[in-house]
Amino acid sequence: MLCCSCTASEEALARGTEPPDPRYRALDYSLTLLPEDARSAFLRAYEPDKERFYALLEEAEAESRAAGDFLMLVDKNNALAENYEPADLVSLNDYPLARNRADLRLRKAIMPALLEMDASARSLGLRLVYSSTYRSYAYQRDVYDRWVRQLGQAEADRVSARPGHSQHQLGTAIDFGSIDNSFADTAAGRWLYENAWLYGFSLSYPRGYEAISGYDWESWHYRYIGRAGALLEREYFSGLQQHFLLVLDAYRRQMAAPTP
Ligand SMILES: [Zn+2]
Repeated sequence: MLCCSCTASEEALARGTEPPDPRYRALDYSLTLLPEDARSAFLRAYEPDKERFYALLEEAEAESRAAGDFLMLVDKNNALAENYEPADLVSLNDYPLARNRADLRLRKAIMPALLEMDASARSLGLRLVYSSTYRSYAYQRDVYDRWVRQLGQAEADRVSARPGHSQHQLGTAIDFGSIDNSFADTAAGRWLYENAWLYGFSLSYPRGYEAISGYDWESWHYRYIGRAGALLEREYFSGLQQHFLLVLDAYRRQMAAPTP
């Protein structure tokens, strides 16, 4: 008995001198960026099995790294460089997809997942129509300037991204169908809302979360975040892409160079 308790306390002593897990520290810091209710919801999912979270995170990061990083945070505060253009853009004209325009391009890296999602929809008699995809920095600048002329800057910022701030520049974002919220009530819109995550796609600007995403509700705009990423977003961030990518961005920075 004495020996046992002796060993146990030696182990405890040894544990106490170990440096804290850097992942815990990085995550603690990153979670401070979330509002209180979102942080609580995250912890309820995370606490019972922390290693499951980190395993899923590593899977999501591995998928993303293999495709040259598709989990970058691009929002009102975080822009892509003027010269950012994915190297693997392909024309949708070369794929059996329903298109509203002839000049649509997306990253080749996401095409296998996209084709699988499209085929699943078709097998149910649904048709996904691709209306807008990759947009260059120069194109965004033209569109934004036009909105500002029509609506003034404040209104323009609610409906349009400033140049460099559009997820469309990633070559992984898609606008479906009518590009207005009548899309939400179509069979294709409902199906995507329920099922897109299974293929790694995420609704970027959901209804009721305008203050978080920074944009009005856009039932038609999806971004690819990978299958593991979509699962993380769903299980730990209540399906809110902005929260997931905000935390991931901070977590990456902390792991690379922790704040003292
Ligand atoms: Zn869009």
